[in-house]
Amino acid sequence: MTPRSFVAPFVLGLACSSLGCGSSEETSLVWDPDGGLASRDSGDLLPPGDAAAREDAAPADAGASVEDSGSLVVDAGPRAIAPAGARAGESALGAAPVTVNLAAGASAIFRVDAAPGEHVGSELTFAPTDLDVTLTLERWDGTAPRVLATTDGGRGVRTIAGFDPAGARTFWFVVKAGARSVSNASFVVRRTPFEDGATCALDCARLLQLPIRIDPRSDGYDHAASTIFRYQFGRRDLVMLTRHLGRTLAARGYAPFVPEDLSQWNGETPGLDVGAPRHASHQRGKDIDLSLYGADGLAPWRSYCRTTNTGDGRECVAGSITNYDGFANALLLGGYFASGRATMMFLDRELIPATRAGASTAIAQGRLPASVSPSFTNGVALQHWPNHDNHVHIRLTEAAYGTSGSEALIYEPFEAP
Ligand SMILES: [Zn+2]
Repeated sequence: MTPRSFVAPFVLGLACSSLGCGSSEETSLVWDPDGGLASRDSGDLLPPGDAAAREDAAPADAGASVEDSGSLVVDAGPRAIAPAGARAGESALGAAPVTVNLAAGASAIFRVDAAPGEHVGSELTFAPTDLDVTLTLERWDGTAPRVLATTDGGRGVRTIAGFDPAGARTFWFVVKAGARSVSNASFVVRRTPFEDGATCALDCARLLQLPIRIDPRSDGYDHAASTIFRYQFGRRDLVMLTRHLGRTLAARGYAPFVPEDLSQWNGETPGLDVGAPRHASHQRGKDIDLSLYGADGLAPWRSYCRTTNTGDGRECVAGSITNYDGFANALLLGGYFASGRATMMFLDRELIPATRAGASTAIAQGRLPASVSPSFTNGVALQHWPNHDNHVHIRLTEAAYGTSGSEALIYEPFEAP
């Protein structure tokens, strides 16, 4: 891949002062789906073993919530900040929470001009908690506001986040009352220095919402009708790595994958907020569930085998694998392994041999570092678990960077001063 300059986005000096102003993409060429640069030795990647973890009682529940996709947008280049009043009824939003009162059907439109390298995460809290209020993220495309996504799910809280890796950008957050009025709701936007990248320098455990993709064709990931945005909070390192891998694969022509659950906005297991936890794990933003690539080049949330229900859950019938792209999925998983932070992945046993074969090919072609090989083959880092015929579960370690075991070897050259 071509190292990308991050000089331009930081000319305002508003971002990344606490993060060392990232050059991570230039110093972390351990994973390269295009080949040729994947040579750094990551050292011993044998995972510590986390086999006691229980996982995934159910796949994403399409009936739990409906999140609407927005229209695709095209980057508009330098006209990133909208003129004042570009969105009728807009009001600028500062750092403090604001109280929202709305008549039935009415909207409040909050404008945020994001600085370069700024993640803008929003949270609306309200009571009664069953109000049908919606929260929409819009982005200025240089000509007009464009809807990126709307969230309407859950009780008492809505969250949505924006991030533009190209630099400054105007976003709007639209709170819209449904059939009932909204009284004394609280809305806040938090700006956090952020960048994509394969390695995290500081503040890596901070819980951040996966930003809504601007364009799945370039961001490399997408949401679906089954996505529940308030369950898409991950550790900073998981969010930045996922975006980095998505954007890199997209640049190589791969279709977007679909991340589903990470953790709830409060770091708890998704579903706890409605009394129906969807997993036994997925706390503190260390886990993520991703859809998988098919041989048809697409990666929607779907099964890659014929399944049967066992006492442990849904499993593939032996020999029934179909339409599975072991090479593309090895690139995706290998990107996480190459980070040195992925300790555990769950996949149905029927899909693992094809994934291993894909990893061997990718290593032979120089598209994955040889150091990830044990993670694919040791039976621990990538192992069978029921209910994983349609996605892979990926866990990052919560160990402090640079302080323990193999991670010290891996990250020492990249630690911030
Ligand atoms: Zn999972």
